[in-house]
Amino acid sequence: MQAKINLLTIFNCSFISLIIILFALTSCSKNQEDYYVLIITGGKKIERSDFLRIFDDLNVDFKEVIQPDANNIYSSPEIHSFDVLIFYDMVQEINEDQKLAFLKLLNTGKGMIFLHHSLVSYQEWDEYEKIIGGRFYQSTNKEDSIRFVQSTYRHDVKIPVQIVSRDHPITRGIDDFVIHDEVYGNYKILSKVNPLITTTHPKSEKVIGWTNTYGKSRIVYIQLGHDHHSYDDPNYRRLIKQSINWVAMR
Ligand SMILES: [Zn+2]
Repeated sequence: MQAKINLLTIFNCSFISLIIILFALTSCSKNQEDYYVLIITGGKKIERSDFLRIFDDLNVDFKEVIQPDANNIYSSPEIHSFDVLIFYDMVQEINEDQKLAFLKLLNTGKGMIFLHHSLVSYQEWDEYEKIIGGRFYQSTNKEDSIRFVQSTYRHDVKIPVQIVSRDHPITRGIDDFVIHDEVYGNYKILSKVNPLITTTHPKSEKVIGWTNTYGKSRIVYIQLGHDHHSYDDPNYRRLIKQSINWVAMR
């Protein structure tokens, strides 16, 4: 009888210990819900609630800041609470102090994701092109007008998307797909970027998504994302989710 009680006691203690260990492991491990993301919008009319629903549905904890206020947050203590910055803005104004604060974030390794029309921002700030890895020319570039005539766009087209590498953490598990979205043409892509997704659409540049590094930061640019057609596309959502994980370096 005594032996039976002891065995039961040992079993109960082990079971409780196992529960405690499992609870501790669960508490320690980071998952998608733990990322705190700053979403920067403004300067362009968007289907705002549809866009933000992407992050609600992905269980991403986020705060949205609308430009021009976002440019002031780069130098505030609050910026350190965010794991990832997602740019879905399209603005041109940024002062020298704000540029310095932006570059400082990149030197501390803050992960950044740039979506769609953010490629049009800061036409007069040359360093931005090196950060994002390309440039949409709002007007013909005077220094290189033969190669970089004004960039183009076309709404509401079916875009065939090819995955460059299924081994990359951002595109893992995603097959080639077709998405209803907007294409850009004649935009500049720096040779140093690492292509993630391409298209054969005749009105688009071939590379429509890439990774880049700047300072200590990981950067992702995804050209897709005009409206609810792409916001609601499961492949687009998966690209964003896996980009968050990748730029956060966890
Ligand atoms: Zn658009």
